[in-house]
Amino acid sequence: MKTENFFNFTLQDLHQNLARFGKEKFRSEQLYKWVFEKKITDFDQMTNLSKDFREELKKKFHFHLPEIKTHLISRDGTQKFLFSLASGKTVEAVVIPSDDRLTLCVSSEVGCNMACDFCFTGKQKLKQRLDASEIVGQFLKVEEAIAPLRLTNIVFMGMGEPLDNPDAVFKSVEILHSPFGRQFSKRKVTVSTSGLVPEIPLVAQAGVRLAVSLNAPNDEIRNQIMPINKKFPLKDLLKACEDHYRASRDKITFEYVLLKGVTDHLEHARELVRLVRRVPCKINIIPFNEHPGSEYQRPTDQQVEKFHSELIRLGAHVLLRRTMGRDIYAACGQLTSEIENKPIEMDTSNSRIGGLHKRFFENPDLSS
Ligand code: SF4
Repeated sequence: MKTENFFNFTLQDLHQNLARFGKEKFRSEQLYKWVFEKKITDFDQMTNLSKDFREELKKKFHFHLPEIKTHLISRDGTQKFLFSLASGKTVEAVVIPSDDRLTLCVSSEVGCNMACDFCFTGKQKLKQRLDASEIVGQFLKVEEAIAPLRLTNIVFMGMGEPLDNPDAVFKSVEILHSPFGRQFSKRKVTVSTSGLVPEIPLVAQAGVRLAVSLNAPNDEIRNQIMPINKKFPLKDLLKACEDHYRASRDKITFEYVLLKGVTDHLEHARELVRLVRRVPCKINIIPFNEHPGSEYQRPTDQQVEKFHSELIRLGAHVLLRRTMGRDIYAACGQLTSEIENKPIEMDTSNSRIGGLHKRFFENPDLSS
């Protein structure tokens, strides 16, 4: 009989699954503790479970997580991980240190169908939607690699549009949030969308935070750089954001990539403030991170500063995000592409290559 990957089961799923063969609720809690707290994925070592039960579990579940294929550490402390999935495809996750935070940026898809014109991943069509275990796996493997440090925040801003794969995204949040698992606070999880309006209510329902990749102050520019805007224009997107705020009472983060000559005029800053004025929010401005083949350019530091100052002058709550990890291909999807399509000599003089971090979660399919 085919076994299922344990890491795709929320605690609730596990309760229901085990109840079918007469097991009480606390059994699934015990299992979760073994796996997520004690990091044991060998049923034979789960000594508070009867031998018969362990044998049954072996017939039902296996444990599989993506493998770290490459681990690069930037001079600025950013760490980038390339994971290989069971399908052989690869995704990236990035750890970004800041003040007292250690934020993990995870991927939810291989490639992306949203085709944002400035995005490296958007040039690679959707190849695979990750399942929950592949998202949970990015978190667990990274945390193991950076131990004894612990991740404090998760942002779904890596490869893919998270709301194009909502079941797996929200299931992975539930798994990591479980009180018998990693107990990761939902308030520390942010899901970022390019604007899939019908799915935005799911973010408040899941109890996580919303970020919207806005990137333009009006429909004309947004239609040019983000095709999703033709389907869900700014009026609908902003309405969904207002509804989200009403449901969650939680400020929204608007991300705004500054593209030289396209979105960085001071008039754009004024338009942007008018556009979002009805939504309690902060605006994250991100100078474009240039990547090979991109027709867009990063504005000068002076222009970035002028744009930033104009937003502040107009009373916006604004953050200017430093571009980090430039020496390790930090533009979203870039490392994957380099490795999949065009092997290159990577400068690893300041980097560690993965494969050094083999511990608990290397234990593959235990059912066989
Ligand atoms: S910016 Fe996000 S939604 Fe747009 S193409 Fe890139 S990964 Fe997809």
